[in-house]
Amino acid sequence: MSKGNADQEIQILREKVAACTLLLNFHNIMNYSGHVSARIPGTETFLIQPIDQPRSGLRPEHLLLCDYDGKVLEGRTGSKPPAEVALHCELLRARPDVMSIAHFHHDMTNVFTLVEDVPLHLLKNHSVRWTSGIPVHNDPSHVANPDLGRAVAKTLGPHHALQIRAHGQVITAESVEAVLIDSVHFVENGMANYYAASIGRIAPLTKQDIANFERDFKRQRHIDKLWQYYVDGGRTQGIIPKEWTLY
Ligand SMILES: [Zn+2]
Repeated sequence: MSKGNADQEIQILREKVAACTLLLNFHNIMNYSGHVSARIPGTETFLIQPIDQPRSGLRPEHLLLCDYDGKVLEGRTGSKPPAEVALHCELLRARPDVMSIAHFHHDMTNVFTLVEDVPLHLLKNHSVRWTSGIPVHNDPSHVANPDLGRAVAKTLGPHHALQIRAHGQVITAESVEAVLIDSVHFVENGMANYYAASIGRIAPLTKQDIANFERDFKRQRHIDKLWQYYVDGGRTQGIIPKEWTLY
């Protein structure tokens, strides 16, 4: 790829990370804290927002380019990565298949880590994404150094999401678009668990339910459809600039 094309690809990735963050914030999945990262394909670098940039006003040019040690390679002078950048560094290092990570602190989903006998189940059909499991990382600390980041990566193992007890969620996916849609579905499933548990005994998806759903499910087509839905909605609401190249 020529340098011009590579620069253009990175600019598009910046716009997608900014849009994903704004949409997660707008839809009350990510609040004043949390972050989305995206690996630059073929490199050991990634984009992430600065520590002190409000999520509600993130722009592509705010994003920092960091290496896996959390060192800022490109960014505004004095800009620092988030305090939990080690979470992104160590997950990207451990999982070459992961291209984008969202970390947020959604209380009504996290509540399932606060009780002893009500785990988060697979209830809604799109929760089949997490059939392999949703581990709970027991240490509620901020993931503020590489040792803590490696511990989270170990808890995640080969799975696609985890909950950090009394803290928040980590969603991993193959693209920024996918990480947005997986985050939406993760929280939808968490809320479904909450509502279902409040009126009766939870009846999780069965193995047969999961097999039936997956038989006809086209993940990329679903991601493309919902990404466009959320981006168009964001543009209508005036939170996503029309000039960003998002699809
Ligand atoms: Zn956190």
